[in-house]
Amino acid sequence: MLSRRTLTVVHKASSRALSTRASTILQALDIPTSNEIPGVYDGTWKGEGELFESLCPTTGEVLARVRSASPQELQLALEKSKEAYKFIRSVPAPRRGELVRQIREALAAKRDELGALVSLEMGKIRTEGVGEVQEFIDIVRYTHADYAVGLSRIMNGRVVASERPGHSILEVPNPLGVVAVLSAFNFPVAVYGWNLALSLAAGNATLWKPAPSTPLCSIAVIKIIASVLEKNGIPGAVAGLVTGGKDIGQAVVQSQDVDMVSFTGSEAVGRDVGKVVQSRFGKVLLELGGNNASIVMPDADLSLAVPAVFFGAVGTAGQRCTSTRRLYLHRSIAPTFLSKLQSLYSSLQPGDPLESATLLGPLHNRAAVGIYSNAVDRLRRAGAEILIGGSQYGSEDLKDTLTGGNFVRPTIAVPSKVDVTDAIWREETFAPILTVGVFDELEEAIGWNNGVPQGLSSSLWTKDLRNVGKWIGPAGSDTGIVNVNVGTSGAEIGAAFGGNKSTGWGRESGGDAWKQYVRWSACTINFSDEAPLAQGVNFSTSS
Ligand code: NAD
Repeated sequence: MLSRRTLTVVHKASSRALSTRASTILQALDIPTSNEIPGVYDGTWKGEGELFESLCPTTGEVLARVRSASPQELQLALEKSKEAYKFIRSVPAPRRGELVRQIREALAAKRDELGALVSLEMGKIRTEGVGEVQEFIDIVRYTHADYAVGLSRIMNGRVVASERPGHSILEVPNPLGVVAVLSAFNFPVAVYGWNLALSLAAGNATLWKPAPSTPLCSIAVIKIIASVLEKNGIPGAVAGLVTGGKDIGQAVVQSQDVDMVSFTGSEAVGRDVGKVVQSRFGKVLLELGGNNASIVMPDADLSLAVPAVFFGAVGTAGQRCTSTRRLYLHRSIAPTFLSKLQSLYSSLQPGDPLESATLLGPLHNRAAVGIYSNAVDRLRRAGAEILIGGSQYGSEDLKDTLTGGNFVRPTIAVPSKVDVTDAIWREETFAPILTVGVFDELEEAIGWNNGVPQGLSSSLWTKDLRNVGKWIGPAGSDTGIVNVNVGTSGAEIGAAFGGNKSTGWGRESGGDAWKQYVRWSACTINFSDEAPLAQGVNFSTSS
């Protein structure tokens, strides 16, 4: 098998003869298929910084070379974002809602093309790529049509009763400033969409720093948004873009010009980002790693639970923050459950994620394959039984066109015991590895569910209402998403999305998440002829 590096060099030597598979998708989105592509947008497209290659995870093909931001360009983009904020904060909120609606229309017109690009560049199967773009469209719709004239019309404060006569207290939301969105590779469109929709409706300028390995998705999305802004005479830096890697990310996070950093990524990086933003008293929203468990009770409907665990563990090749990584089975149903699950795993064939029959695409990059292999080795060393999977696909298992891809076998491992202090249970491995434990009492399984650092998603499979009460109550699951007879993976946009503990406590998307994208002020207004102090304090010199 040709290594990823070799392929890259071969392509560098040749004159960018892009495959039809890739060029059709790029052309449909107006992305040049030759030369270097500028990866910075602040009203105009530019890029004189480091060169990044976008590699196809399925074939190893170099899809494009993108110029990221130089330090000067980043500084300028930040300044332009600040100026753009001063413009957009004065645009009436319902008018901002109208912009959001137009963005939705423009995205919907290119939904399938963008979905294909997500599949091409990230590696998830096409239906999930399209689904991710649909999520962007839905959140935009949520901020507009679902609330009749949109969240932009109901981002309200409130009037609070004052204890002083002739006084009123208002809690007032105002736009925050510049919101920087740093996003992960696995949702190269939707995470930005969740943030942009709320941030723009709230009156902020948004500057996006996507993952360095998915620059094309961000460029395609920003092109669509920029055309809407331009048509409406709105400065492009209202939705700016700086592609690049860790250095650009760090500079954005450190910048005093950024009022809020919305970071989606790993716990390790999120921990640093949180500290840096906190140390300059900026606002931070963290959406970090998940280590999600499903618990299956003896009364569960296995015809629902087995396919849901299968999708949760294997969908997106285990590269969702909400992927099912731990499975706790009641002793009485464990053998039956595992045999049904194994037969679903056995039916899987790796394939090109762009083909409609494919359910299993590649991991996103070579490094992830190494992480997968190390995790499987660690499980083996710990004495775990590998029921299925446990290795990469060899070239003999793959079509010729896929031998440059990062394909691994989805794995089910049963360690000798559940010990949530052990790394095999407590660390998120961003790959399709499902670790299984057997329990006797629900309380024991809830303890295991809660015993890890992360707190993103969890699900309980039962028909017994008493179990449901325990699960969602104070002694139940401690994750941000707590499901019953619904898998851990995938969430609708209507409720606030996010996790607790080392997942970062952030909330995005629906519910009250918009309240994070504004600054709140308590305004006390005296319309009387007296000036009494609160709590009856007397500070008069005449008494
Ligand atoms: P990552 O942490 O490696 O990178 C995330 C972003 O941070 C990228 O844009 C990267 O360039 C940037 N970055 C890297 N180092 C930085 C630094 N020191 N300062 C500032 N920025 C820096 O994450 P990844 O590998 O792209 O994504 C996978 C992770 O994201 C997984 O842990 C997954 O669970 C998590 N994730 C969480 C959610 C959620 O909503 N909770 C959603 C998607 C992904």
